[in-house]
Amino acid sequence: MLKENLASVEQNIAKACIRSGRQRSEVQLIAVSKTMPVEKLQEAYDEGTRDFGENKPQEIRDKYPQLPDDIRWHMIGHLQRNKIKYIIDKVCMIHSVDSVRLAEAIDAEAEKHHLVMPVLVEVNVAGEESKSGIRPEEAEEFVRQISVLPHIHVEGLMTIAPYTENPEENRPFFRKLSKLCVDIRQKNIDNVSMCRLSMGMTGDYEVAIEEGATMVRVGTGIFGKRTYAQAMTDGR
Ligand SMILES: *Cc1c(COP(=O)(O)O)cnc(C)c1O
Repeated sequence: MLKENLASVEQNIAKACIRSGRQRSEVQLIAVSKTMPVEKLQEAYDEGTRDFGENKPQEIRDKYPQLPDDIRWHMIGHLQRNKIKYIIDKVCMIHSVDSVRLAEAIDAEAEKHHLVMPVLVEVNVAGEESKSGIRPEEAEEFVRQISVLPHIHVEGLMTIAPYTENPEENRPFFRKLSKLCVDIRQKNIDNVSMCRLSMGMTGDYEVAIEEGATMVRVGTGIFGKRTYAQAMTDGR
């Protein structure tokens, strides 16, 4: 099952790249493995997957020692400052920076470990009240504020688009995030590269790629539906 799922996601990504005149190598597939047992991650690993996305620090901390160490772990979920310590030396990127206080806390933890953490700024492009993220009109100022922190490196933007049955409905949001990224890049802010766009999930990753995504985060499309029981076991 997982093998077929991965192959079909891979094929959809390749087609979306062709449709939009992009190279396959411009788009990174992140397998979102939250709530999934390590056996499933190992299965995906054996099929060649190296980038895994998780949304709970404790889950990364628990899975990390049980799996090969060439995995690139991506922290994609809301992060509390007191949990940064669980993941700072384990993840290759934090996709969900949405406050100056969080950025400062990541910077401080990164300094302790003598590393520079690549981060993305989470933007709430659809303006959904229930979602975290910076307002688009505040993004540039926010990037400027956190760009001075020496132990983080701002590499781009991330968004979680609204849930929808029709991925076309999210196209304007992806386009908006893409434009925002270009606009900020053109300001040439020190210590900011703005070349990464983390957007698109199972329901809409193809549209996201057509609009410039460089990282898509696919969970259900690879691992199948997450069950409530699985979700409960990590509700710590
Ligand atoms: C769960 C999750 C995903 C993956 O969602 P699917 O619809 O299962 O592909 C992507 N991004 C974030 C931030 C998530 O929490």
